[in-house]
Amino acid sequence: MGGTREEEVAPIRILSQTSNVRRALLVVDVQNDFCPGGALAVPEGDLVIEPLNRMIEYFDRKGLPVFFSRDWHPEDTEHFKTWPAHCVQNTQGAEFHPDLLKPISAKVITKGFSKKDDGYSPFEGVYLKGDDWPTPCQLLLGQPQGTSLYIGGLATDYCVKAACLDAVKFGYSVYLLTDACRAVNLKPMDEAEALEEMRRTGVVFTTTEEALKAAVI
Ligand SMILES: [Zn+2]
Repeated sequence: MGGTREEEVAPIRILSQTSNVRRALLVVDVQNDFCPGGALAVPEGDLVIEPLNRMIEYFDRKGLPVFFSRDWHPEDTEHFKTWPAHCVQNTQGAEFHPDLLKPISAKVITKGFSKKDDGYSPFEGVYLKGDDWPTPCQLLLGQPQGTSLYIGGLATDYCVKAACLDAVKFGYSVYLLTDACRAVNLKPMDEAEALEEMRRTGVVFTTTEEALKAAVI
């Protein structure tokens, strides 16, 4: 997977100019139910954890914002007419995978929590803190202009794609971490088609290795 050589080189240039570029990391739905053994397991879903942990560790160490999205469905939802029941609120399946690093500073975006709501995109979600009013995802992520948003997680052909397309629409510079996402592939071409749609929209493909190598400079 991935784009042309030029596309792979581009983020290195941009990441090197650290002065004016705000960076943020969005980790999409790395929950037990989407990993092997889960209710809606994505093939090799757990393989995203190691590369994502390297990004999470780096962002946390640099004091850069890290966001985790999660599916958080009620037991009874129209969403389960399309999919087997998964990520039901307050169940073990809805918890983040135990191997995923979870820095204290990371903020969780909750989505898909109503009976009618699919919640594919984290931008449909909210940040919940105590009794405060929920904060919409976009408000939480802040100013899109001048922000490079790095995205990885599960699954490439659904929530990761929805996250990337919405992020571009809102004006973020979006970098898909191609080694840190996996697809459901209900149909064999789903992943390829999702990647093509993202590329066409302006999402830049990179890898965690490239992003981190560039960031150290
Ligand atoms: Zn769901």
